[in-house]
Order: sequence, then structure tokens, then C-alpha cells
Amino acid sequence: MTAPLSAVHILGVRVDDVTGQETLAIMERWVIEGHPHQVVTVNPEFVIRAQRDAAFNVVLKKAALALPDGVGLLWASRLLGKPLRERVAGSDMLPLIAALCARRGYRPYLLGAAPGVAERAAAVLQRDNPSLEIAGTYAGSPDPSEEEAIVERVVKAAPDFLFVAYGAPQQDLWIFRNLQRLQVPVCMGVGGAFDFIAGVTPRAPLWMRERGLEWLYRLWRQPWRWRRMLALPRFVYLVLRQGARRRFARSTERN
Ligand code: UDP
Repeated sequence: MTAPLSAVHILGVRVDDVTGQETLAIMERWVIEGHPHQVVTVNPEFVIRAQRDAAFNVVLKKAALALPDGVGLLWASRLLGKPLRERVAGSDMLPLIAALCARRGYRPYLLGAAPGVAERAAAVLQRDNPSLEIAGTYAGSPDPSEEEAIVERVVKAAPDFLFVAYGAPQQDLWIFRNLQRLQVPVCMGVGGAFDFIAGVTPRAPLWMRERGLEWLYRLWRQPWRWRRMLALPRFVYLVLRQGARRRFARSTERN
């Protein structure tokens, strides 16, 4: 038995307080145990969506691991008095997981993104980790008409890790629906991570990421995301309100 993870609830969404190194250790344990687990990479957009999307909310609640992906969550956790220790972004974890796979002989499967992108991402990961064996790559789509065939493909490849790049929330709902059939120990939705690794989309420079400005860089490079990014000011407003309510409740308790 292992101790339960410490977590913070931000607007009702659980975020686990794990570091990148702890995440790798947990994932490795799951591979050894062999039962399927779903990992979600929570960011402020996820939290806002979960407020009105009941199906997505269930997926986040039931996930075995909810990574703190997104600097806004760290800010919110500090404001709510339960600071998360570090940001653990799916895009940062992917190369680290690939290195773990190469060291231990585990095999990842890369599902999703535009045709050819998963193959290019796999080639980059193999270039950086020559002993890495890839269980498979396939673009496919989250369309229900393809679901049976894709599940069959993945089951046949029997990977240890499944990364799904269909964008949130589709990728997370897809994994949730199929988790038990897939029987892959670690299944994680990774959004645009294959695009970053393959070099299709440039990642924000390190100085911007370190200052919590990755969202600004994405808005500049992909301005069509502005509508989705309206979730950010909404997130800030709701967290400030949750923080104020908490302080008010505390002060009335004291008096
Ligand atoms: N995508 C896909 N099929 C779809 C919708 C999206 O393969 O039907 C891929 C898309 O090519 C991209 C990823 O899903 O690689 C989503 O990237 P995005 O940056 O939008 O994800 P986020 O990280 O914002 O969730």
C-alpha cells in the first residue's frame, strides 16, 4: 500500500500535489502492477470546462492521477492556502517518460495528432533515446466510428504507456470510455505534445515558461485560440471569489 496523494481542490476540481520525479515513480509502479490507469493534465481551461461539462467532470474526478499542468493552478493553490509544489506539464513529462521507457524496456504508443505527426514525434524520441522501442503510432480520430478499430489496434500492440493527442476534452473522454478494454497501465491525454516534439508547433522559450507566460506565447502563435483562452480571466475571477469566501468563512469562525 502507498500513502494517498496530497491534493488541492480548485473550484471543485482535484489536482494532485506531485512532482515530475514522483510522477515517474508512480507510473513505473503502475506498469509493474499492470492494471490500467488514466492520467489527466489539469490546467485552468480544464477547471472551467468541468464547471459546466458533467461528463468531463466525472473523468477528472475518476482519474488515477491529476497532474498540475498549468501555472494558473500553482497561483490558485497558493491563494487558497495549499500551495502545489511544482508544475508538471504533460509536454515536459513526455520526453522524461520516453527516457524511462528506454531505460526499462517499456513501450509507449502514440495515438492522435495530424497524420504523420505521431511518427515524427516517435522518431525524435528515438533519436534522443536510441534504445527506445515504440509500440505503435497512429493518427486516427476521436470519431466514434473509428473507436472500435483504434482500440483493437492498441490492444494488439500491448503498450505499457498510451499517449492520446486528440485535444481536451475529447482525448480524456476517449481514454475514459475505453480504459478497461485497452488494458494499458498508463493512459494519458497529451494535447498538443506531439506537435511540440515533432517541431510542428514551437514551444514557448524557456524564459517565458519559467515566468508563467506560456499561455501568452500560445496566444501570439495561435491567435485563433483566443476564444478558448477566455477561460483564463474567468478562472482568475472564480478563484479570487473562492479565496475571498474562504477567508470570510475563517473570520466568522474566529469571531
Ligand atoms: N487532434 C486530432 N484529432 C482531432 C482533434 C485534435 O488529432 O479530432 C489533435 C491536433 O492535431 C493536436 C492535438 O489534437 O495535435 C490538440 O492540440 P491542442 O494544442 O489543441 O491541445 P491542447 O494542448 O490545447 O489540449
